Amino acid sequence: MTLEARKIRLVMELRQQGITDQAVLSAIERIPRDVFIPAAFHDQAYENTALPIGQGQTISQPSVVGYMTQALEVGPRMKVLEIGTGCGYQAAVLSKLCRRVYSIERYRELLRDAEERFRTLRIGNVTTRWGDGMKGWPEQAPFDRIILTAAATEVPPELFQQLGADGILIAPIGRTSHDQVLVRYRRKGDEWETENLWPVRFVPLLDGTVNDVKTRSKTTIELNRQDS
Ligand code: SAH
Repeated sequence: MTLEARKIRLVMELRQQGITDQAVLSAIERIPRDVFIPAAFHDQAYENTALPIGQGQTISQPSVVGYMTQALEVGPRMKVLEIGTGCGYQAAVLSKLCRRVYSIERYRELLRDAEERFRTLRIGNVTTRWGDGMKGWPEQAPFDRIILTAAATEVPPELFQQLGADGILIAPIGRTSHDQVLVRYRRKGDEWETENLWPVRFVPLLDGTVNDVKTRSKTTIELNRQDS
């Protein structure tokens, strides 16, 4: 079966699983997922599974990308902030649905590869930054939508502050990889409406940045705080 045929089969599977927003399905159909994953996994590019992308990170499962994108209720004039570019797949899917995607990644290497893919695919409306996504992107705020693709124990307050009126923010929230749930926050004036959507499993949102593979171990040093 060709990659193209496998992609069509995957899109049909996603529709059966409840991703019914036609714009989201066509965005997924337009983005070649094989471009975003290491060559060794190309034959699995259109299976509904998460796959490794290096640096201990993963490309999300297509159904998770589909559900999250649908839950974000993206419109064509919107500015969307993504935390955790990873290989760039989610950003590429969003790029077909909104005006501009701003995406932040803490691993410099992953970001370089993602940028290369956007160039290859001639995706011109994704702007990226190497940095700590917990701080958001204040210079570009407010955003209509914010999506976290790494799990946090709680949403960093800076991100809420950077969400515009009637904005939606979605994030995997949980203390361990076993108790995460995807949460949707809707801004209603000064109030927040919170909905727990589904259980998910994402890599953790970590602070700081990582310059390259060699310096990676530095990030594992933890501060030992003593309660007094
Ligand atoms: N959106 C990706 C999934 C990425 S996995 C996709 O489409 O496949 C989550 C990513 O979040 C990882 O690449 C990880 O390095 C990144 N990440 C974790 N904490 C971060 C932070 N504080 N700032 C920016 N990126 C972060």
